[in-house]
Amino acid sequence: MKKIITKDILEAWLDNVRPYAKDGKVADYIPALARSNPEDLAVAVVDLEDECVSAGALESQFTLQSISKVLSLAQALLDNGEDYVFERVGMEPSGDPFHSIYKLEQLNPSKPLNPMINAGALAVTNMIHGVTPDEKVGRLLSFIHDLTDDQSIRYNEEVSSSEFGTAYLNRSLCYYMKQHGVISGSVEENLDAYTKQCAIEVNIHHLARIGAIFANEGKDLNSGRQILPRHLARICKTFMVTCGMYDASGSFAIRVGIPAKSGVSGAVVGSVNGYGGIAVYGPALDDRGNSVVGLKLLELLSNRYDLSIF
Ligand code: GLU
Repeated sequence: MKKIITKDILEAWLDNVRPYAKDGKVADYIPALARSNPEDLAVAVVDLEDECVSAGALESQFTLQSISKVLSLAQALLDNGEDYVFERVGMEPSGDPFHSIYKLEQLNPSKPLNPMINAGALAVTNMIHGVTPDEKVGRLLSFIHDLTDDQSIRYNEEVSSSEFGTAYLNRSLCYYMKQHGVISGSVEENLDAYTKQCAIEVNIHHLARIGAIFANEGKDLNSGRQILPRHLARICKTFMVTCGMYDASGSFAIRVGIPAKSGVSGAVVGSVNGYGGIAVYGPALDDRGNSVVGLKLLELLSNRYDLSIF
């Protein structure tokens, strides 16, 4: 990959897509995210030899937000196995916005449709082993330390408490699911763990490396150690295709065709089997919650290097 994608190319493309940032808006429903700078753009590609090519605001740190849903799913699958997890959360795309409560009420039993919408992700967090929220988040962080090869990654307390204090809809989803026996234990503690997982802070290189390990069938890029079993990496990537880009997952599959997951911080991670991981960051979002600049860049990269899996 490094033979064809150079820093010069990535820099030129970042400059091309920069003007699109003004078409989007940074997320402001989490107060701490409203202060993001829409001009902070970054892109990184990590290949299966762990070589990284990157451009833009490489020093920017951002929170995973919904990207954490792929990783918490992987952790819950590691902790409980597939049968347990998929008895409690479904596998079907919802076509609804990520925080929608609408389908939950229609389904009987009230099992969330998939782990990439908030209801499903809140249920998945509930399944991660650990007695306290910090134990659960600690397990997830260790997994992320392995994926990124960086032990220093933590969650941003300002962002997690900012979200925790204003997460009225996510609280409602939890209480609804608690009523219907989908989640157990304390709702407030579950929300605490979830908002902390969403606030895990990384840079663009970390994120691209996470994508590369999924592309490498769950194996570490240097040691070859199986961090995540291949079949679990495959489950996660399949959800990225069917539900990773909110209710724009269908058009993204057609235009870009890369298993990817985005978050309201403006980050997107993509994973191309046998090729590597791609991460883009641009906090200005479109009306579905996807980074406007991120979508443009991924479309350029996919078309230019024929990365669509379809
Ligand atoms: N923490 C955010 C929430 O649950 C994540 C949303 C997202 O990135 O889509 O509202």
